[in-house]
This record gives sequence, C-alpha cells and structure tokens, in this order.
Amino acid sequence: MIVIMKPGATKEQVKVIIARVKKEGLDVHLSEGKEQTIIGLIGDTRKMVDVAFDSYDGVENTVRITHTYKLTSRDFHPDNTVVDVDGLKIGDGSLTMMAGPCSIESLEQMLECARIAKEGGASVLRGGAFKPRTSPYAFQGLEEEGLKYIRQAADKYDMKVITEVMDEANLELVAKYTDILQIGARNMQNYKLLQAVGKTGMPVALKRGIAGTIDEWLNAAEYIAAQGNFKVIFVERGIRTYETATRNTLDLSAVPLIKKLSHFPIIVDPSHGVGIWDLVPPMAVAGVAAGADGLIVEIHPDPAKAWSDGPQCLNEKTYAKMMKQVHIMEKAMQEVKAID
Ligand code: PEP
Ligand code: MN
Repeated sequence: MIVIMKPGATKEQVKVIIARVKKEGLDVHLSEGKEQTIIGLIGDTRKMVDVAFDSYDGVENTVRITHTYKLTSRDFHPDNTVVDVDGLKIGDGSLTMMAGPCSIESLEQMLECARIAKEGGASVLRGGAFKPRTSPYAFQGLEEEGLKYIRQAADKYDMKVITEVMDEANLELVAKYTDILQIGARNMQNYKLLQAVGKTGMPVALKRGIAGTIDEWLNAAEYIAAQGNFKVIFVERGIRTYETATRNTLDLSAVPLIKKLSHFPIIVDPSHGVGIWDLVPPMAVAGVAAGADGLIVEIHPDPAKAWSDGPQCLNEKTYAKMMKQVHIMEKAMQEVKAID
C-alpha cells in the first residue's frame, strides 16, 4: 500500500502519516519526487486497510499495490531513479557504455581493453575475476589478482569498474575493488546474496536470470531495495528459449516493459544475448533504440585467444565501428524521446 500526498503537503502532514503507520508496527519508505511525496508501507499491510488515510490532511489518495514487489515499482516511485556511481549518472537520459573482456586475464590485457573501451566512449570497464562457468574444469577466474588488474586499468583511464560477485564469502573482497557489483544471471534468485549486496549500499547491476520472468526479476530487485539500497541497474542479457541458433534470445521488449513497471534504469548486454560477435552491433543499436540507459559489451584485443566467450567478443576495429553506430542511434533517441 502507498499513501500519495498532495503536491505541497507539509512535512508535518507527512510526519503524521508516518507516525500512524509506525503505530501499527509497520515501517515506511519515503519517495520524495519532484511533485509529490509518496509513503510506501512496508510490512503486513492487511491491518492498515481500514485506516481512512484519505481523510488525513495533505493526503491525496491511497493505492494498494497488487504486485509482490513494491519499492521497485513505478507506482511507488513515479520519477526515474538515477543511479550515481561516484559521480557517473546511470538513468539520467544519457547512454552509459560499459565494455571489457569476459574474463580478466592479465594486467596487459586489461590495460589494452581499457584503452580500446575508453576510445569508443565507454566510462565503465567490465571484466570477471570470479567466473560462473558451466564446466567446473573451465577457467574460474583470477580472483583477487584479477580484481587488482581491473582496478589499476580503470584508474589509469579514469573509468569505473563493474565486476561480478558470485557469493557472499567474497563480497567484501570484490566490494573493495569495484564500483558496481554485478549479480550474474545464475544468481538472480540467490536471495541471500541479493540481501547481502543490498546491505552494502553500493550500485548493483542485476542481470536477468537465464530463465527469469519479468516478475521474478522485479522481485529480485526488491530484495536489494528492501535493504534500503536504491542503486539497482537491471541488465537484460537474453533468456533461454527453444531457439538454439543464438546463445540466448535477447528480449528487447523487456526494456520498455521494465521502464513501465519500475523506476530503476535498465541496460542491455547484447554479447551474452546473442553469443555471436557480428550480431552484437545490430543488437546493441537496437537496445539503444528500445530505450536502454546503457550497454555492456564484451571486447578483447584478440578474441580468438580469449580465455572465455571469445566468439562473442568484439576486437578494437569492430568495437570502434559499433560505437560509431551506437552514437548515431544515441543522438536519434534524444529526438525520439523529446516527442511526448
Ligand atoms: C558475464 O557477464 O561474463 C556473465 C557471466 O554474464 P551472465 O551472468 O549474464 O551469463
Ligand atoms: Mn562472458
């Protein structure tokens, strides 16, 4: 349930509502928008249904939120949430580019990737130090050594870092080196991990599960938001369907749908979405056209030698070419978005 205050409602009027809610043992989450304050009730709201909030001064109306996610819902927070990554704004209408290899392999490789990524306009460097591999015998990541390389390379090129955290045991370690915590597709429903990253208060990029429905994905975000962490970034990375010609099926309809249902930004990962490098650029452009707040793509100085996901990595030339196309679509989208 949410209580929507009238535009211009006073702080005192808001306080009265909060006190009334707390009296019943529930908690509140305030959303102070440009026009209105919305008070979200957290806890078992069944005991509140008989409270005539509408008759309190300053209250416009009350709305029962029927879906199971609340803080993540646009009903609760009508304005877009802009995630601030140490000054870098994600979801403010600009396009945030993230690029880097699938796996961190060496300092030289990361420095080269950072240079290539930055030249194309990326502000965030990606790379995995803890790799969720299908085979237990495949390369599992350089762990802390890798984290040091990605941090050093990003710092040299004045970029932010995004890297995956696979478990609670390594959360503190990963958090020490990264700016954005990536929750991989295989962990979208690892609720204890979601709660733990929620508690850090750090930006969290939440990948869609391999077979995750939109509703499950929104509920996964709710686990993070319920810890008071409103720095969630959705990442559409494709879902498993009957189609095997591509690695996954990139569900671009998720972009406008997530934007309709939630206030958190969403970015697109065309690399894992298709798994084939020459299909990445058209799907990246399409992701921007769908209204994404950013892209995350895999690049490698020599994809044939990549330790993981080589077939979907772009090299310096193909990445630079893709970025020219992306920037054209980015500009066009400013005009598209201006038509209201
Ligand atoms: C990755 O980003 O390298 C990765 C493992 O992605 P996903 O969790 O989407 O499979
Ligand atoms: Mn990968």
